[in-house]
Amino acid sequence: MVVAIDGPAGSGKSTVAKAIADRLGLTFMNTGSFYRGVALALLRSKGGGPDGSGGTAPDLKDEKKLEDFARQVPLDYRHGHLYVADEDVEPYLRSDAVESVVAQVSAVVGVRHRVNERIRDIAKATGIVCEGRDMTTVVFPDAEFKFYLDASAKARAKRRFEQGTSALTLEEIETRIAERDSIDRNKKEGSLKIAPDAVYLDTSDLTIDRVCDMIISKIHL
Ligand code: C5P
Repeated sequence: MVVAIDGPAGSGKSTVAKAIADRLGLTFMNTGSFYRGVALALLRSKGGGPDGSGGTAPDLKDEKKLEDFARQVPLDYRHGHLYVADEDVEPYLRSDAVESVVAQVSAVVGVRHRVNERIRDIAKATGIVCEGRDMTTVVFPDAEFKFYLDASAKARAKRRFEQGTSALTLEEIETRIAERDSIDRNKKEGSLKIAPDAVYLDTSDLTIDRVCDMIISKIHL
């Protein structure tokens, strides 16, 4: 069974998808981690430290080079953590360095194809609850259950700020989120949109538990 969830950055998708997976005994997959893993490997290849910071700026315009690079990054997903080869890179995926390039890296069509292949391969083995931007539209268009989680830009920035993984101010996070929204909605392929057959939920004023209950009630119909 595939439960597919899409929505913009900070809409609560990860937390909700993980809780739903736990409740249903399925595997949770945060597909943004795959793009973050490629971005981290790219920054490290430019001399960046463990979290990708401090190296020279990668050329984000050369799409062919980025695609070739992504193809040779050994991405894996084990127990809800992203691995590059045998390293669990989860602690570094939300660094400011990765945040600053990941949306652009994920806009490259060839990178998306590589990531989608890995996601489908890994999903084949087990039932999953996956979340991302194009799970309901491109990667699993035939998913049994589809949801789109939304929230206001202010609510989303506040959530990211409270996660404590960024050194940026609330205002700076809001600006970054607006920039990423714009990239996500204007991608050539896999852009963020609401699938016609997805259940739409605005989570701005809802608790995580409430959102989970609403999703579970739809799945059990
Ligand atoms: O969800 P998260 O913020 O971790 O995603 C990281 C980046 O990967 C986002 O900026 C988004 O542009 C991209 N992404 C994507 N397609 C997905 C999941 C994430 O393009 N399925």
